[in-house]
Amino acid sequence: MEKKIPELYGSLVFNDKVMREKLPKDIYKALRKTINNNTHLELDVANAVAVAMKEWAVDNGATHFTHWFQPMTGCTAEKHDSFITPVDGGEVIMDFSGKELIKGEPDASSFPSGGLRATFEARGYTAWDPTSPAFIKDGTLYIPTAFCSYTGEALDKKTPLLRSMDALSKEATKVLNLLGQSDVTSVKTTVGPEQEYFLIDKKDYAKRKDLIFTGRTLLGAAAPKGQEMEDHYFGVLRPRVAAYMHDLDEELWKLGIPAKTKHNEVAPSQHELAPVFDTTNVAVDHNQLTMEVMKKVAEKHGFVCLLHEKPFEGINGSGKHNNWSMTTNTGMNLLDPGKTPAENIQFLVFLAAVIKAVDEYADLMRLSVASAGNDHRLGANEAPPAIISMFLGDELSQVVESIENDTLFKKSEREAMDIGATVLPHFFKDTTDRNRTSPFAFTGNKFEFRSLGSSLSVAGPNVILNTAVAESLSQFYDELKDSKDLDSDVKALVKKTIVEHKRIIFNGDGYTDEWVAEAEKRGLYNYKTTPDVLPVFIEPKNVALFTKHGIFTESEIDSRYEILLENYVKTLHIEAKTLIDMLYHEFLPGTLKYSDTLAQSIILKKQAVEGICVKALEDSLKTISANYSKLYELGEKLKADVLTAEGIEDYLKAAIYYKDTIIADMSSIREVADATEVLMPSDALPYPSYADMLFYV
Ligand code: ADP
Ligand code: MG
Repeated sequence: MEKKIPELYGSLVFNDKVMREKLPKDIYKALRKTINNNTHLELDVANAVAVAMKEWAVDNGATHFTHWFQPMTGCTAEKHDSFITPVDGGEVIMDFSGKELIKGEPDASSFPSGGLRATFEARGYTAWDPTSPAFIKDGTLYIPTAFCSYTGEALDKKTPLLRSMDALSKEATKVLNLLGQSDVTSVKTTVGPEQEYFLIDKKDYAKRKDLIFTGRTLLGAAAPKGQEMEDHYFGVLRPRVAAYMHDLDEELWKLGIPAKTKHNEVAPSQHELAPVFDTTNVAVDHNQLTMEVMKKVAEKHGFVCLLHEKPFEGINGSGKHNNWSMTTNTGMNLLDPGKTPAENIQFLVFLAAVIKAVDEYADLMRLSVASAGNDHRLGANEAPPAIISMFLGDELSQVVESIENDTLFKKSEREAMDIGATVLPHFFKDTTDRNRTSPFAFTGNKFEFRSLGSSLSVAGPNVILNTAVAESLSQFYDELKDSKDLDSDVKALVKKTIVEHKRIIFNGDGYTDEWVAEAEKRGLYNYKTTPDVLPVFIEPKNVALFTKHGIFTESEIDSRYEILLENYVKTLHIEAKTLIDMLYHEFLPGTLKYSDTLAQSIILKKQAVEGICVKALEDSLKTISANYSKLYELGEKLKADVLTAEGIEDYLKAAIYYKDTIIADMSSIREVADATEVLMPSDALPYPSYADMLFYV
């Protein structure tokens, strides 16, 4: 019989319940202290935890363990070791020590390090993150870890994330203590990432080299129908998709991932999943796992799950919404305005800190979501613009205005909603509407950073948010710590911050040209593409921020900057080569074959009937042949330009060349190929069309 959900939930996780059952009381307490207060863990505690963890894992069918980490590839990495240890008499025991739990030594030489270590300096370490629970997947015990080099530099996405959480906790606690919250000892950031994805049939996927090599289609004419009927969003789930989602939920629940909401998205074949929020590092781990499990479960259902930001031209791509807030160890959500936000000075301090952070580090926020894939979405009227601004909504904006102008804020009564039919319930309207076009929107008791691409690790954007807000709070503390009249000084500080940074607040439609012009007038950044924004990483103001809070050292910044550039260049290089491959091996031969058929048909018809009219066939043949020549010429140009690109040694210069020249080459090819595709019979097409892929799952 199938397990009930509460039993199923977390059944493969070494969670609090299991710890309490399996660990000696003092050990449990020590571990809990580490998890709750981020204190250091002693080796004897680790040893005891290791024993319990191994027993639990073996009881649940595990034979191996792995240190699971998140290198700069953006994927996760794992190397499995079995628990077996040979003993006398040719037998084995299942063994696992505290040392093995705390520290691993994977070979670091084949992970991107951006020059942090040469290939011969292979040693790297993984260190257990006890604040993210271990779990079992496919017979292996997974231990979440951070990954660093022999010399202690971070080689992963998790280390700086944990550092940024520490920084925020430290600065927020200082400010809260100053404001009289003396029982606050730590502050956690929380994240709930909403994840969009596409499902297409495995059989179609297997026939498309572009999807296989690049995750997106490089060619393909639009289907007769797109998303214009707006009939897919929240639409009824098709049985095959519903079965997939059901399985996906169960797999995630077993891993203790609180998948909560699922629905169809705007584009055909597009869907979304949202979990209940969690502490940031756990949410990041869970999001990485969610993406993995989405792909794995898709296989079982004969699907492929596409997580690319723009798999299909002409319909929406996929993003990820990073819902973010801060909670104290005493359980206060610092972004909860309460019933009377205008009088909630603590809320206003934290709101002001976020406003200041986003205004001062909007460039880094833009940087944190930059990738070749996401460049297709930002500013394309389907996702927020590349300009970072924040949406506060009507009520908070009025509060902010009243502070700025020293006027009294009058709370507008919540309007009762009457839909006009007596049988329908009456309820109160929210005080603010939603704004889908804003990159960073206040949504009641949290901010929603909406610019993330669907395949991105959410670690990066949260590093920036945490660090930038930590910096605001650090400055606030310095300004207030010697105050003789805290009440009025806090109010003055909030007001000053609002006046200085209100340019970042924008409640209107972010998709319009007027906003682009207005944002320029306000002096806001508008970095349209990845190569445009990447250099902000190494700007002195940003280096100062990271080094002040101990998030990145200068060499870590340099290495990450290089990795980002390299990744952009490599992504476009692969795309260009894939397009060349498809053009020469599939599309041109397919076109040629069809034009031969046309030519033969013309000859045959003329032989059969004297004077027969074959004008339509001749016209088709002429167009197809002309397109063949154009495509060939454009293909030769792309090949030559790729050679040029390969010769550029400086990564930034190469990135700019790919952005300006290679992308333009690729879209010229696509234009002609897509116009040719619609002239060809389906069976002459070398791969499934958009219509085939998007409407039949
Ligand atoms: P909406 O539909 O407006 O986007 P939801 O209530 O559905 O809002 O929440 C969306 C996501 O935000 C969910 O993943 C949810 O868990 C997360 N979320 C809610 N509260 C918080 C919070 N305090 N911190 C971080 N994420 C949160
Ligand atoms: Mg949302």
